[in-house]
Amino acid sequence: DWILFNGRIVNIKEEQPMVALEERGLQFGDGIYEVFRLYNGKPHLLDLHLERFFTSMKEIHLNPPFTKEELIGQLQQLIEKNHFLEDGNVYMQISRGAQPRNHVYESNLKPTYFANIVPFPRPTTAMKEGIKATVEEDIRWKFCHIKSLNLLPNIMIKNKISEEGYQEAILVRDGIVTEGCHSNFFIVKNNKVITHPADHFILHGITRHHVISLAQALHIEVEEREFPLQEVYEADECFFTATPLEIFPVIHIGDEQFGNGESGPVTKKLQAAYEESIAPLKAT
Ligand code: PMP
Repeated sequence: DWILFNGRIVNIKEEQPMVALEERGLQFGDGIYEVFRLYNGKPHLLDLHLERFFTSMKEIHLNPPFTKEELIGQLQQLIEKNHFLEDGNVYMQISRGAQPRNHVYESNLKPTYFANIVPFPRPTTAMKEGIKATVEEDIRWKFCHIKSLNLLPNIMIKNKISEEGYQEAILVRDGIVTEGCHSNFFIVKNNKVITHPADHFILHGITRHHVISLAQALHIEVEEREFPLQEVYEADECFFTATPLEIFPVIHIGDEQFGNGESGPVTKKLQAAYEESIAPLKAT
């Protein structure tokens, strides 16, 4: 019942947070967000998520109204107040603040920020059995590394493919595979893991980063390079990564079964390593 709202922990049963109509986050999507995972109520890879949160703010020239330490303290309070000991996601966003509508922002605005916990059990079936993906054009802007509130293209694609019975889209920009609507994308060929470079055309996923480290620790070769769609069809395995979904294999692309329709050995190895990495959090 408790959320973090502009630095205060608020019980939403007693107090509905009020946001100004002319909040730029509402009118322009002028803000950024972050999602990190709690396993048994304990944050996973929090430092990396906070680093990206601060980088995203910097990219849009939004001055944080808190230090990293202050924000960590507030997030800890949020988790404690809720007595949250399950698996869940913490969603947090910050937007520029309110002013009479004008594309040009004023320099002295007070940003609006909040965070809340969304209970979210591990999607074990999708992780084990895999998902159906389809191919869509990457219609997003060219600053996909900023975790911006402007998710309209992602939402349009996701809703289209959901209606068609798919769980994720393999996005293609100018013939190059970038990522998914809400996850990063990897292919595996001859035991080598390949994924799009962390440039402006993809979100620099924290799970992507984590999975690359896990692969390297397992002496699995990782290549960060551009690849065309054809390489996906020729790959031995492919999978998506995202904070709430971890690592989820693709077993179907469009109308066709992919590979033998099951999760592959490299994907499974990485999933096992991921499992090990969260074991200390799950143990208590
Ligand atoms: N790409 C996009 C477009 C995303 O929105 C997300 C996050 N939902 C990801 C990749 C995965 O990033 P992370 O591993 O940090 O959750």
